[in-house]
This record gives sequence, structure tokens and C-alpha cells, in this order.
Amino acid sequence: MSIAADPNSCSPRAADAHSRNLACGRVYIGVRGVEIVCAMPAPQPIRRQYKDEVIQLLASRGVSVNDIAELVMLIQKSYLPNLTMDACRRSVRKVLAKRETQNAIFTGVALDMLAEKGLLPPPLVDMLRQDDSLYGIDEVMALAIVNVYGSIGLTNFGYLDKSKLGVVGRLNDPRAGQVNTFLDDLVSAVAAAAAARLAHHERDVAD
Ligand code: MG
Repeated sequence: MSIAADPNSCSPRAADAHSRNLACGRVYIGVRGVEIVCAMPAPQPIRRQYKDEVIQLLASRGVSVNDIAELVMLIQKSYLPNLTMDACRRSVRKVLAKRETQNAIFTGVALDMLAEKGLLPPPLVDMLRQDDSLYGIDEVMALAIVNVYGSIGLTNFGYLDKSKLGVVGRLNDPRAGQVNTFLDDLVSAVAAAAAARLAHHERDVAD
């Protein structure tokens, strides 16, 4: 008898594979004649860079690089009068090229999507769907991005979190039609870090 799933993962050397690696995604476990197929996909090599994937993921959730660059412009233009949208977009892309940023976005957006589909256990699924104000882990995760560029980033993040400017306001609208509990903080954090990066860069040039 066979339990579970993927015929492509069938291996004639099941017992052998089991003894070597339980997490390979192709393992059959034979116990008293019962065959169990592990349907977990085989692991892929992990690359150093996922910038394109993270930009695509944000776009699939309704956020573009330009949306985030507009936030950067809003919070930084009074300090940098010659700031251009091109420079804001470039700074956002630099922040999105950091693995700390990519890891936080992959994790947070995955949790938003799982909550949306009802694939997380209670009470977590309800906390995320209702964006419970006492949850707070969404803000904590976003700090992984903010911290890359120090205390200016932290101040900017607090401001964006309170003011709900631009795309952050749109993501917080209950009519958005999707769970954005992590995404709004991640987007604020990327904008805050990109603005802090510009501030530091300006200081470096002045020095
Ligand atoms: Mg949130």
C-alpha cells in the first residue's frame, strides 16, 4: 500500500534513500509493507542573490519599485533638495539587493499569502487576517531591513508606520482585498532604509 503523493518522487531504492537523507524530497519509508512518499520537493541550491525574484514578488502583491521610491522622495526631499526620482529608485534597488531585505520579504510575504489562503493554524491566521494591533511581529521582522542603515532608518520607519503615506496607506486599506500585515511594514522598511542610505551617501560625499 502506498500513502501520499508524488509519482515523480518514486524511488526503487527507497530504504537506501531513507537511511541516507529523510529530507531529500524523494524518500520512501517502508514500514511493515506500508510505503510513505515524502512529497516535499527536493531542495534547490541557494543562490547569493534574489533581487529579481523579490521585485517580482512585490509586484505580484501590488507594489512596484517606483511606489517605494515615491515614499523615499516624500521623506527625504526636505533634507536633499536636489534629490531625483532616479536616485530614489536606484537606492530602493540597492536595498532590495541586500540578502537581509530579501530574506525578510520572502518570509513576511509568504506568511501574508498563507494567511490569505487559510493555510496557517489559529490563532495566528486570525491575527494576520485582522492585522491585530497586538501582534507586532510584522514590525519586528521589518527591523531586519531598517537596521542595515542604522538609526536614520529607524526614525524614518517609525514615521512611515505612523503616517501611512502613499503605497503604505493603500496596503493598509481594508478594501485592498489581500492580507498585507507583513507587506506594509516591509515596504515601509525598504523605503526607510533607502532614504537612510541616501542620507549617509550625501554625508560621505560632503565629508
Ligand atoms: Mg503590519
